[in-house]
Amino acid sequence: MAHEISINVHSVIPKSRINGPGKRMVVFFQGCNRGCPGCFNPDTHPFDTSFLCTPRDIIRENFTKDIEGITISGGEPFMQHHGLHKLLKVAREEYNLSTIVYTGYEYGELRSVERFSTCLGYIDLLVDGNYLESEREPTLLARGSTNQTFHFLSRRYTEGDLYMPGRMEIIIKQDGTIIKTGFGRITMPLQQR
Ligand code: SF4
Repeated sequence: MAHEISINVHSVIPKSRINGPGKRMVVFFQGCNRGCPGCFNPDTHPFDTSFLCTPRDIIRENFTKDIEGITISGGEPFMQHHGLHKLLKVAREEYNLSTIVYTGYEYGELRSVERFSTCLGYIDLLVDGNYLESEREPTLLARGSTNQTFHFLSRRYTEGDLYMPGRMEIIIKQDGTIIKTGFGRITMPLQQR
């Protein structure tokens, strides 16, 4: 049996209402060296192993029938492009989930590099660009700074779908752990314990 690639995962929120349209699984990749000043997810920067999981297991273990899609953030998802590609493919082809990816790279850069561009065909919405503290705007829709741009790569969504019920969400897990996620003073969808 072929070896299945694993992703170094920072964390997973099985169900969120504010990281894109509908209820969504949110997967935060571990590892980013882009060093955006003011990044609100510094815990995701180290490349040390957080926990390793195959793309198929990430979805299988967190999937419920009422979710509409998967949102992938980080960390920098494209720094694990093999795993990202597989996760997107499984999400779309095996679970019919819509796909949103947040990245610090710019769309043009991703299109010009083959190992990155192969992922783009599986993405419905790409939100690109480094977080820039100088361009921070607290009322922005689904992003942290004005330079970050929506790229609708399929017909599944339009900007009108991104009006979500709020910018921050607090989730209390069964074990009492409190998770905050959202777009308050942040670069990308946040998970903070
Ligand atoms: S904003 Fe994104 S790309 Fe920039 S340092 Fe933070 S995780 Fe990395």
